[in-house]
Amino acid sequence: MSDLVEDTIQIVQLKQMLNAANYIVAFTGAGISAESGIPTFRGVGGLWSKYDPEKAVSIDYFRIDPTYYWKFFRDVRHDLMINAQPNAAHSALAELERGGRLRAVITQNIDGLHQRAGSKTVFELHGNTRRFYCVRCRKPFTIEQAWEMLQTKLPPECDKCGGVLRPDVVLFGEYLPEDVVQAAQREAAACDLMLVVGSSLVVYPANNIPYQAKYNGAKLVIINIDPTPLDGLADLVINSAAGEILKQAVME
Ligand code: NAD
Repeated sequence: MSDLVEDTIQIVQLKQMLNAANYIVAFTGAGISAESGIPTFRGVGGLWSKYDPEKAVSIDYFRIDPTYYWKFFRDVRHDLMINAQPNAAHSALAELERGGRLRAVITQNIDGLHQRAGSKTVFELHGNTRRFYCVRCRKPFTIEQAWEMLQTKLPPECDKCGGVLRPDVVLFGEYLPEDVVQAAQREAAACDLMLVVGSSLVVYPANNIPYQAKYNGAKLVIINIDPTPLDGLADLVINSAAGEILKQAVME
């Protein structure tokens, strides 16, 4: 069977499953933002060609040398996050939510693109790299404020207490926010269709969420270019780029 015919059959199946569901929850990863120009961790793309991830986004290293993170932010992450726009896959999920059947997006992403596409109920398991706060007094800062402060001070320091600013993301070595995890678990228990989009499903403990949904009786759909460890459990697996698939399944 040609890829095109297979995609068409799978899009029809996906449409049927979306139409039959009453409580859809999406679980998204870096792959949904790849078509917005933000490289994934795994696969080609070179996000880590210049910066060592063990250092750039690890809490242990941030404590030793916060300037390493801030150089990574200055040289790589800031422009990626400022320039990236939501793509067809983000828009399709927002449209599904407006239609009333998609109740929540649980995301491992830190780019805020779901909200910018119009999604309202978004649970960010790993935080958001457009927000910052002071490690000492917890005063919050926007990405624009942090960027401005970075022009004169590396690492940027809080104007209230002099503490170092850090991103409001879960760094390697940190726990996920308990309230967000609990909300995600509630959604996993409540949904009748879990739609995984653009996640390798290898990052623990976030990858437990789709597993829990399936365990609780939901149908499981995985849209991801590469195979994932949960493919064997899924009711439908589509190994294609998410934008075109979701656009056709939701918007056409
Ligand atoms: P991952 O990098 O482990 O896996 C991404 C998956 O997306 C890959 O399996 C790949 O096959 C697939 N993919 C790539 N392009 C795709 C497309 N157009 N359509 C469908 N699938 C596509 O990502 P992960 O599972 O989210 O785990 C990585 C961790 O890195 C997460 O914790 C996430 O927070 C973080 N991260 C976030 C961003 C972001 O916010 N945009 C970017 C990079 C990494």
